[in-house]
Amino acid sequence: RTAYLNGTFLPLDEARVPVMDRGFLFADGIYEVAAVLGGRLVDNAAHLARLDRSLSEIGIRNPHTAEEWERLETELATRNGLTEGLVYIQVTRGVAERDFSFPKGAVAPTVTMFTQEKSIVANPLAETGAKAITVPDLRWKRRDIKSVALLAQVIAKQQAAEAGAAEAFMVEDGVVTEGSSSSVFIVTKAGAIVTRPLSHALLPGITRAAVLALAAETGLAFEERLINARELPEAAEAFYTSASAFVMPVVEIDGQTLGDGRPGPVARRLRELYFAFAEGRRS
Ligand code: PLP
Repeated sequence: RTAYLNGTFLPLDEARVPVMDRGFLFADGIYEVAAVLGGRLVDNAAHLARLDRSLSEIGIRNPHTAEEWERLETELATRNGLTEGLVYIQVTRGVAERDFSFPKGAVAPTVTMFTQEKSIVANPLAETGAKAITVPDLRWKRRDIKSVALLAQVIAKQQAAEAGAAEAFMVEDGVVTEGSSSSVFIVTKAGAIVTRPLSHALLPGITRAAVLALAAETGLAFEERLINARELPEAAEAFYTSASAFVMPVVEIDGQTLGDGRPGPVARRLRELYFAFAEGRRS
């Protein structure tokens, strides 16, 4: 596999970052993940806009224009022969003497990229539907920044794995924030698609935005409002969205079956609509 590190394409196992990198010492960096489908990046302009915003919110200079990023990502995907999977980008504040505050002099950000092959469309989990559990949201208060500080999500996902579930829905003050690596939606028994409104409390999911736009275009009713954790077992359907899962139907939450225990019609419809969108548009 070929990786990218600070201007160079090189074998992944030769790509090394120094111990004094602030990403390693402080998780002082951000990341971005976009899907590749049919060899093309999916909704990439939106991912690169979020990358730029994440960097600007923590005061790291964006080392590339969107055009440059897309060229680098495309070249990396091509070099890896990637037709379906993910492109991962990480930018940290760079290498400097260990000190919490930003380095005084000009320090170049550390830029790394790699790809992962993944069957996103032909995912057997989407056929059966995923199980989810709820866990407490242990994170900081700026979850709108796609920070590489992911310890709370690591723990949440591990708890899910130990419970035989694919995703952990994080709950704060009785309200569902989002999944450990996804945006959460429910469909009420009245048929409304519900997801939490954007704020500093959650990541602005790129797939979430596309799904809401597709719902609007298709005339499917949706509401952006808080989801009480107590609503989960009562929901007709639930699903989560992310660049790596697209739209993933959920059929069981905390051991309780939703509906008839099979992926619901709204989740299946939105998954199909998202495929069409992902296949038909480059960015
Ligand atoms: N929320 C969190 C915490 C995430 O980590 C992710 C993706 O990794 C998402 C939501 C979904 O975002 P996107 O659709 O842009 O992949």
